[in-house]
Amino acid sequence: MKTSLLAVFSALIFLISCGDSASEKNTNDLTEPSLPFSQVTNSFPLTSAPLADSLIYASDVPQEQVNILRQDLAVLDTWDGLMTASESQKLKDLMGLSTVGASDLSLWFKERIKYILQSDLSRYELGLVFGSDTQVGLQQLGTTETGDEANTGGGNIGTAIFLTTLEEQRSRSNLSYLIIRINDSWVSVLSPRVGLMRIGPALFDPDYQVNHTNIRALSNSLQRLEVLFHEARHSDGNQASGSVGFAHINCPNDGTIPAELVGVPACDDMANGAYSVGAAVLKPLLHLCERRCTASEQEVLKAIYLDRISRVTAGTGLLKLLDPTPETGFNAVNISDFQAFNLR
Ligand SMILES: [Zn+2]
Repeated sequence: MKTSLLAVFSALIFLISCGDSASEKNTNDLTEPSLPFSQVTNSFPLTSAPLADSLIYASDVPQEQVNILRQDLAVLDTWDGLMTASESQKLKDLMGLSTVGASDLSLWFKERIKYILQSDLSRYELGLVFGSDTQVGLQQLGTTETGDEANTGGGNIGTAIFLTTLEEQRSRSNLSYLIIRINDSWVSVLSPRVGLMRIGPALFDPDYQVNHTNIRALSNSLQRLEVLFHEARHSDGNQASGSVGFAHINCPNDGTIPAELVGVPACDDMANGAYSVGAAVLKPLLHLCERRCTASEQEVLKAIYLDRISRVTAGTGLLKLLDPTPETGFNAVNISDFQAFNLR
């Protein structure tokens, strides 16, 4: 089998520049933001609009990739939702849903992923909101410390920023939360449910496709949908129960995991994590492929399904069941009259 997409989630994937905080800043550093601060609402109305029309794409995501993702999501919009009783039960258990038709899965996804960012995060602008100082420290995301691998299919950036904020607050108690500029909005990252997904290098790389010659083949759409739902799970969880982001564990050397994955954060020690969710969504979608994919494409997709299942491992212990209740998050601040300064 050809190498399949990995969707490695690295919690603290980038570092905010250090050594400069609001209290240390010099008034000469005051600046104008590239986009005026506005009162950002984080209420994002969930509608029954087609999933294909529901995401916001950063303007630097290549149009061809946007078009392909819209086509992928449209697969779900037009899906008859046919599945076996056991496939249905698995989805209900994992997603906490009482019905798991196509529209249920769409809504579940919309609650968790709202924005798509491009693979290279270095150009995105971040703001550190210091509420008590009525100031926002600005910087570009800059060189990312992703430990990135070419086989990464995606990343949940909202969760990474949220976890980074918690870490930063240990040394900067006046840090309220972070904002990120996406197109003509400053988006407040109040919790992982902000729903920011980054496209990984492998998502559209021909070498990592099921069908290498037609990027739009249904088999490739299904592989990408598995990645999207995997990333959506990373928007779940809460601090109180220690489940924020449903973080992966380093794969144990237990004899069942391929050697190249041992020690890599590409396994789950919980039964309801991102690998389980991605696999459970992919499984019933394979019925669509029975009529519309080649035999070899079906074989590869089944191998991907089995690969995802195999990454759910407790090593010598028992699988955990994590609490998916979403994080309450930070309280939003009205930053419309805040001063901006440059973080170095
Ligand atoms: Zn993941």
